Amino acid sequence: MSAVLRLEDVWKSFGDHDVLRGIRLEVSPGEVVALIGASGSGKSTLLRTVNLLEPIDDGRIWLRDVDISEPRVDVDDVRARIGVVFQQYNLFPHLTVQRNITLALRHVHRMKKGEADAAATALLERVGLADKADAHPDRLSGGQQQRVAIARAVATSPELLLLDEVTSALDPELVGEVLDLVRNLAADGMTIVMATHEMAFARDVADRVVFLDEGRILESGPPAQVFGAPREDRTREFLARFT
Ligand code: ADP
Ligand code: MG
Repeated sequence: MSAVLRLEDVWKSFGDHDVLRGIRLEVSPGEVVALIGASGSGKSTLLRTVNLLEPIDDGRIWLRDVDISEPRVDVDDVRARIGVVFQQYNLFPHLTVQRNITLALRHVHRMKKGEADAAATALLERVGLADKADAHPDRLSGGQQQRVAIARAVATSPELLLLDEVTSALDPELVGEVLDLVRNLAADGMTIVMATHEMAFARDVADRVVFLDEGRILESGPPAQVFGAPREDRTREFLARFT
């Protein structure tokens, strides 16, 4: 089966600062890739280039067989195929939880109201938040909000889910419920690329760990190898800060 996502020698700079320096990455269907690396190493920028929030300077990005770095690509079409959740501020504050989810379904998939409502209800049940359907986001805990944001991101059945430190803004006691949801999606076969500082989670759930260092992939491999026997000194130094 062909890769869901392929980055070919992707370069991105802000001014004279090269933030991504020749990124090569291929993600297979159902694969869970954890992006780790120090703050500023380029994790968010990498994810943002895939979602076409940042234009790249060089290289190519393929979503399946579509070159999405090509200037004439249909941005809406690409974004409809990719689910994204950031660290915070994911939900529309003025809409109920239910409407946050149905909005995407109605606009991206052109579902009728009844159909979108039924789908949203089923999703909220799945993430254990059926009783919050009519609440506004500010009535939910941070963990619940992120679960809704993830539910919304997968509501449209994306081919790829990008998660950018989705637990970093949460109180420690709320991290587990969000990671459990990600774990369930991974078990269901969702293809996921996630930037994370949750090393134990990455070790447990990721198929592959990619260590980003100053805009380069310094090493990449199965969690047991990257965490257990890192090849590079810089990986070892980075990981030492988390243990
Ligand atoms: P990470 O997510 O790994 O912390 P980022 O991708 O957010 O790293 O940032 C990588 C580098 O790019 C940092 O030095 C950051 O300051 C810089 N950067 C990110 N976005 C911008 C921007 N819009 N303008 C200028 N510099 C940016
Ligand atoms: Mg970041």
